[in-house]
Amino acid sequence: MEYRGRFAPSPTGLLHFGSLVAAVGSWLRARQAGGRWLLRMEDIDPPREVPGSAAAILAALPAFGLVADEPVLRQSERRAAYDAAFARLRAIDAVFPCWCSRSGLAAGAALHRDGRCLAPPDPRREPAWRLRAPDCDIAFDDAVQGPQRQNLREAAGDFVIRRVEGLYSYQLACVVDDAHQGITEVVRGCDLLDSTPRQIWLQRLLGLPTPRYLHLPLALDGAGRKLSKSTQAWPVDPADPLPALHRALAFLGQPPAEHLADAPALLAAAVSRFDPALIPERGGCFAG
Ligand SMILES: [Zn+2]
Repeated sequence: MEYRGRFAPSPTGLLHFGSLVAAVGSWLRARQAGGRWLLRMEDIDPPREVPGSAAAILAALPAFGLVADEPVLRQSERRAAYDAAFARLRAIDAVFPCWCSRSGLAAGAALHRDGRCLAPPDPRREPAWRLRAPDCDIAFDDAVQGPQRQNLREAAGDFVIRRVEGLYSYQLACVVDDAHQGITEVVRGCDLLDSTPRQIWLQRLLGLPTPRYLHLPLALDGAGRKLSKSTQAWPVDPADPLPALHRALAFLGQPPAEHLADAPALLAAAVSRFDPALIPERGGCFAG
């Protein structure tokens, strides 16, 4: 089967070092396998979106030599597919309505188990919808992080897949789109390692294939926090891509590359020597 990988940023800010690491890691893995590398814009959460950032991210990637093999898939255009998946989950009674108020959830009543909402039904408003988490271990073998195992009921409980406003959760959209794009291996940051068992359970319920997984170390700031777009930490400069690319390759544990004239040449050289076994499990401090 042809290798198909992807990079799936959210439009919540400019491309930063942490997302560049995920983009480069997924690109190297796909290129070394002789496969395809796809892009998906995870613009499923309008309240969190930063206007203009989707276009800025898509414009920046080619400057780093990262060019997708197929047109970009935008989650904002995939509503019908998520509706269909949700309808299927309802049909098999895998979901239940949650009437908890936002303030009730914030007050610490968030963990739901055994298909029971903690609040009484309120017919005057729309509910959120949760997926029933099974009391069983979901296991998978991560290509960098090694064997993983999680009891969904204990670790996650019944989790929200459709919010009160009708927006679908990251977990549902990601699973539906990974299958739609024919992704054979998901390469992404370690902050999503914990989401993977929930996604595997959704794949099983929806009759979708489970891809392989490779979770990259996270780039942290000086205080040990994840470099995230929302904090605007270290945006990378598309006008001067080589320094950030060298740092991303070093962060992924790859041997120093010779100094080549442009980003495509540097990445092409990195593919030939790319060794996933050198990727560290844990991230380190990235101080610019
Ligand atoms: Zn509830």
